[in-house]
Amino acid sequence: MGSKTGQKAEESLDLFSGFIKLHVLHHASEHSVYGLWLIEELADHGYRVSPGTLYPLLHSLEKSQLLKSDNQLHGGKIRRCYTITAVGRRHLKKAKLQLLELMSEILTKEEVERLNASLTPTT
Ligand SMILES: [Zn+2]
Repeated sequence: MGSKTGQKAEESLDLFSGFIKLHVLHHASEHSVYGLWLIEELADHGYRVSPGTLYPLLHSLEKSQLLKSDNQLHGGKIRRCYTITAVGRRHLKKAKLQLLELMSEILTKEEVERLNASLTPTT
């Protein structure tokens, strides 16, 4: 049953795929983004996402009209670049409010204080 080896990773992807989508929408709202850049950016935040996972996710966001894409030429290579749409911006704004609401529900006061302390720059 070798086909089941990826199951655990898939399950955690299920839980975090919403976070990954929000992360992608956030960056696509600031500048146009492409697959490899997103994979590296997400890795910096502790999400190990393979191209086999990211590209279908980008396609589904585009199909839902939250992202739009075009081909751009970079150093002789064609690169598929994604930017947020007006619909995507509305969804992102709404998702931020939902995220805040969720955080205020699932995090205790102590957890919020601890997170705040760890996010405060020490310099
Ligand atoms: Zn980021």
